[in-house]
Amino acid sequence: MKVPFQSLQRELEPLAEELKQALNAVIDSGFFIRGSEARAFEKEFASFCGVTDAVGCGNGLDALQLILRGLGIGPGDEVIVPAHTFIATWLAVSHCGATPVPVDCLEETGNINPEAIAPAISPRTRAIIAVHLYGQPARMDAIADVARSHKLKLIEDAAQAHGATCQGNPVGSLGDAAAFSFYPAKNLGALGDAGAVTSNDKTLLEAVRTLGNYGSRQKYQHDVQGINSRLDELQAAALRVKLRHLESQNRRRQAIAAYYLDALNSTPVQLPTVVPGMEPVWHQFVVRCQQRDALQSHLRDGGIETLIHYPVACHQSAAYVSSMPDSHFPVAEKLAAEVLSLPISHALTDSEVMQVADTVKGFFR
Ligand SMILES: *Cc1c(COP(=O)(O)O)cnc(C)c1O
Repeated sequence: MKVPFQSLQRELEPLAEELKQALNAVIDSGFFIRGSEARAFEKEFASFCGVTDAVGCGNGLDALQLILRGLGIGPGDEVIVPAHTFIATWLAVSHCGATPVPVDCLEETGNINPEAIAPAISPRTRAIIAVHLYGQPARMDAIADVARSHKLKLIEDAAQAHGATCQGNPVGSLGDAAAFSFYPAKNLGALGDAGAVTSNDKTLLEAVRTLGNYGSRQKYQHDVQGINSRLDELQAAALRVKLRHLESQNRRRQAIAAYYLDALNSTPVQLPTVVPGMEPVWHQFVVRCQQRDALQSHLRDGGIETLIHYPVACHQSAAYVSSMPDSHFPVAEKLAAEVLSLPISHALTDSEVMQVADTVKGFFR
């Protein structure tokens, strides 16, 4: 039996009627940009994240970039980023003209090492971006302490963690602002590209909205040199439907993770560690193995599709290596060589999940 890594077709099938109705209503309305669906989704998503408001935008990269620009961060400024993340975290900093300053990660979670942040701070540092990688919140208490004592802004990259909590508080509400991606494969995914910014800071949200709408608050009045990055009505309507199902889907992912953690406990693979006080939503279930490539081919031979998040550390990617040729982040580099993501879609069947665990066990027999 073949086990897909993630079948969006299968995930969407039970929601198809609800989605089609919502999309048809938008088509009938004749409004596609800056209408009532986007505003309704912003309010619903803000409430889900425990913040006062949200602003929709085109994707997760733009959400990060709009926050940075909204905070006035640009050329000459430095922003602390984790060495091990999806490259968008770094690109957002580069695209607003600032410099990403990487900090190494914790091997157990892949999240930024809070103790490594202070040594990377310079007089030019303006902000820290904490990524909740694979769906588990970063150590926000410790990171917030560093941010506070150095008067830095704290930005969450919550693109992989819709619905995760840290000490009972939802991600999206744990810093000065948070960026979300609704790329179709994320825990909360649109039917195309979409993103959002959440915050309790009304002034910042207003700046983000203006920057994402050509720098305009009033039609044809342009206050700043903004971009075009808006949440469209069709995506917002789909997201409103999908938000209603997110909690139960996250619970299913948590049940699959619990099964893997138990079933694979006796094998030599390094299992993901859950930090006390964190409730992850398991965007990915990432194991570590020194024979990663051999394990991946063994799983492939057993019909199981896996992925690697991510095979090249950002500082060693062609996009960045020339600007930091002598940089080394040993944990990030080790993770790039050893991580393997097992299927954890909420739409997997119990027997598929068992097949994944049994096949991993078989590799070591
Ligand atoms: C997906 C992702 C992004 C970028 O989101 P897009 O919507 O693809 O632009 C940013 N950061 C992280 C950690 C992500 O996983």
